[in-house]
Amino acid sequence: MNLNSNNGKRDFHKKLPNDSASQKNFSALKNCLNEVQHTWKKEGSLRALVQEWSNIAGLQLAANCSPISFHRGVVVIGASHPQWRQALLYNRPQLLAELRSAGYKVKSLKIQQHHPTELPKQQSVFNTWDKHPSRIDIHGMSECNKCGSPCPAGEKNLWGKCSFCKRQELNK
Ligand SMILES: [Zn+2]
Repeated sequence: MNLNSNNGKRDFHKKLPNDSASQKNFSALKNCLNEVQHTWKKEGSLRALVQEWSNIAGLQLAANCSPISFHRGVVVIGASHPQWRQALLYNRPQLLAELRSAGYKVKSLKIQQHHPTELPKQQSVFNTWDKHPSRIDIHGMSECNKCGSPCPAGEKNLWGKCSFCKRQELNK
């Protein structure tokens, strides 16, 4: 699989005027992305989990709690406030079931109080889901400057990269 192969590009342009052909190309690309996500899941990728997190946890929970690590089947979720940590602990069995049904090989789920000291300047945008940079229904989708993955435009406007790359940077 190589999205940037010369072959693929040439084909795409040549067939562009033909609707069904470009549609076919689009679905091939989509399949390709699905395949990538599937591989990520199998490998226990934090990236895949972060990208799907709001679907799995629900918007409100996702705005206040996010996956911090995913190693050897153990997912660690950080909560922004003690009450959200409580909410997570309370919903842990359901969340675990959701993760498994979404295709993640999760053995256990750990929840910790996450001290959000890492983003002092931008902290305010995370306090309400109204303006949360991860909302693609408001900000739309874009592409990360760093890793090239699709990412919420709000995240890109804020950091010039996806939240995953931002986090990798902060953890350095
Ligand atoms: Zn990125």
